[in-house]
Amino acid sequence: MLHHLLGRDITRKSKQLEGGSGRDSLNDLGPGSCNYGGIKYLFSDWPGIVMIFNGDSLHKFPSTRPRRLRLNRFLRNSVAETSLSTSNLIMPIFVTDSSSPQPINAMPGQFRWPLNEDLLKFVDELKSAGIHNVILFGVTGKKDPLASEATSKNGVVPRAIRLLKQSFGKELVIFADLCMCDYTDHGHCGVVKGSGEDYYIDNDTTLKIYGEIAVNYAEAGADVIAPSGMMDGQVKAIRDALDGDGYENVLIMSYSAKYASVFYGPFREAADSAPRFGDRRSYQMDPRNSFEALKEVAMDVGEGADIVMVKPAMPYLDVVRMVKDSFPQVPLAAYQVSGEYSMIKAAAGAGWIDEGRAVMESLTSIRRAGADLILTYFALDAARMLRNWDSLF
Ligand SMILES: [Zn+2]
Repeated sequence: MLHHLLGRDITRKSKQLEGGSGRDSLNDLGPGSCNYGGIKYLFSDWPGIVMIFNGDSLHKFPSTRPRRLRLNRFLRNSVAETSLSTSNLIMPIFVTDSSSPQPINAMPGQFRWPLNEDLLKFVDELKSAGIHNVILFGVTGKKDPLASEATSKNGVVPRAIRLLKQSFGKELVIFADLCMCDYTDHGHCGVVKGSGEDYYIDNDTTLKIYGEIAVNYAEAGADVIAPSGMMDGQVKAIRDALDGDGYENVLIMSYSAKYASVFYGPFREAADSAPRFGDRRSYQMDPRNSFEALKEVAMDVGEGADIVMVKPAMPYLDVVRMVKDSFPQVPLAAYQVSGEYSMIKAAAGAGWIDEGRAVMESLTSIRRAGADLILTYFALDAARMLRNWDSLF
């Protein structure tokens, strides 16, 4: 939305606007047009500024033929507006206590990794392909109401972090997903109070535990703490806890706008984290809202988030774009979630779409919408295909 970017300047000078429909400023919303600085702005109903022309005479057929720029792939590559590289990608990894990799049924090609050579070999493969970012999710049978596996030094995630840091050091940036749902017997992301239909998730008690988990992961060697529980104030609680223990250089990537989405379905099998009762709609965002995402992001940035996130990615590309336009100075991640992965896998498995091209088009779309970083289960496949990026489009 251009008026986010230009609004202030143009509004200030709005009295000087010439011609057009007589609007006073870009804040005077509604259909119409105006001229400013030799540029004509056409408006549809808010929020769209639909077209911008450098004067009326440009971009008319036959002097303009957009197809000329698409004549061959060398030309197309020369004028491509969006790029994608391995440094944009983060690979989610499920870690667990088992002796061998366990396939995840609902996510063909994905595994739960044991803390041994198999995991190290897989991460080595990622690194050789150019992927240096991973985000860890713990899968465990050890569950209790307060997620003590997550605050324990011997929890599956801290052990995985130590193992990976020993082997790969700085060459691997370890993001640690921080939530309670993988480790609670009730499957909720925070402390449950009350009972029956009157249960609720106690925000501020949960924050204290999030702080403890963050310090536990940082102590093990995590580079980035990634809170995904959607508790209010979670970034501040984690920043305070980290700083209080001398981890001021550990980053926070917040799942700022995480929607209550059906597309998380396959993940819940992977992480064994489905809520045993109720759902997560009292803390995750309502899919009908987009402006609310700006409030969530603004709060997280104010509390000290280094990177913010929109999740899921593809059904929420409008939100990705809004966040990038409103906070261009803040690195933005988007999570191509398990359901997005499994839909592409299923359609490709049935022979309905070309998997490789679907992967690259979806990732490119997420970048085009404004994401700097993409969490994706396709990271390794994409890294390999990126070697031929110039011949893909
Ligand atoms: Zn959770």
